[in-house]
Amino acid sequence: MPESKMDPKSVRGFVGNKLSFSDISASEALKSAAQMDGEDIVAIVNASGLKGRGGAGFPTAKKWEYARGQEGHPKYIIGNADEGEPGTFKDRLILTDFPELVFAGMAIAGRAVGAEFGILYLRAEYGWLRAHLETAIERCRDEGMLGKVIGGAKDFSFDISIRMGSGAYICGEETALLESLEGRRGDARNRIPFPVQAGYLGKPTVVNNVETLAWVPCILLKGPSWFASRGTRKAPGAWLFSVSGDCKRPGVYEYPFGTSLRQILADVGAEDAKAVQVGGASGTCVPPAEFDRTLTPGDLATGGSIIVFGPGQDMFAVAENFQHFFADESCGQCIPCRVGNQRLLEAIARMRKVGLDREAERNVRQLAQTMSVASKCGLGQMSPRAFLSILNTFAGDLPAKHA
Ligand code: SF4
Repeated sequence: MPESKMDPKSVRGFVGNKLSFSDISASEALKSAAQMDGEDIVAIVNASGLKGRGGAGFPTAKKWEYARGQEGHPKYIIGNADEGEPGTFKDRLILTDFPELVFAGMAIAGRAVGAEFGILYLRAEYGWLRAHLETAIERCRDEGMLGKVIGGAKDFSFDISIRMGSGAYICGEETALLESLEGRRGDARNRIPFPVQAGYLGKPTVVNNVETLAWVPCILLKGPSWFASRGTRKAPGAWLFSVSGDCKRPGVYEYPFGTSLRQILADVGAEDAKAVQVGGASGTCVPPAEFDRTLTPGDLATGGSIIVFGPGQDMFAVAENFQHFFADESCGQCIPCRVGNQRLLEAIARMRKVGLDREAERNVRQLAQTMSVASKCGLGQMSPRAFLSILNTFAGDLPAKHA
């Protein structure tokens, strides 16, 4: 994988273009929320069309509506800050530069669903950020943005604590995150009940990604139509993208949905790219012939990660690197993922040595198909994707005599 040109501990990160978040006041958004009841807040978020920015793209208002309708108490809002997809660092930038927006988003979600407790589940590798976030929480309490009587409303109470993640990729998946929060191994839970019905400690729980939460104060202050007017009809709004790899201007960029990959490559200084990995290690590797495709859930779905590969990259070395990651991160609970990722890794290593024959290709495609339908969670279901897209387009990178 191309070496990152960013300082992983840079508190400010690197902003490629002006983010909408930069002129939003968390305190004003909370005052506005204090004037509304939960139903009004859900209606505004619904009108904006906001969908989860963690990757699954579930409508945020629908999740809140379900949680709002649950009888169990207390209810919880979890901020998912377990940003573990390779090549993704946009949530880190939000947490360093705009933590108040995330906390305000959690409090507003709390008012919407009737929850008074929030937990920020912070990626283990971001432990160095914890002190910065604790200070921001204290500041919010001092300024009346957390605690009791928020925004002057007697019935608006909400407070947040931070809990550290377990250092496993799977803990970014919301049910594994809940297991981890409850002190167990981060194994994915069966759904039904859904977390909004029985989540943290068996109580109704909303898990929202950091970026999703940060958009909420923007929507309350600028209005749902401001948000909905950006992007496309099916995918309203903008998304933050972490751009890294072989480009002149890596960093975090904000684009409306529907922006073409070609446009982004021009902005970041990577017009000569050989390929672009969209959506992290479990995403899709896009060749130049497809650079006019757009970043939108109906076309190129993205978790906010764009990794650029320049003309000199060996794409099967890239595939091997991703496959190492998945073989390491498989929790081992189910065989298609535990064994399949290891076998794929071995197959790629062999192809890089001796090339590709028809039988080997048929075997790896069958294996990938089995993994995608028989694995229990998204890790095993999605892990063959990057390798398959590289195999489809870059077989020419393999040793010529056997290719
Ligand atoms: S698919 Fe992989 S990570 Fe998910 S439960 Fe099965 S073994 Fe664990």
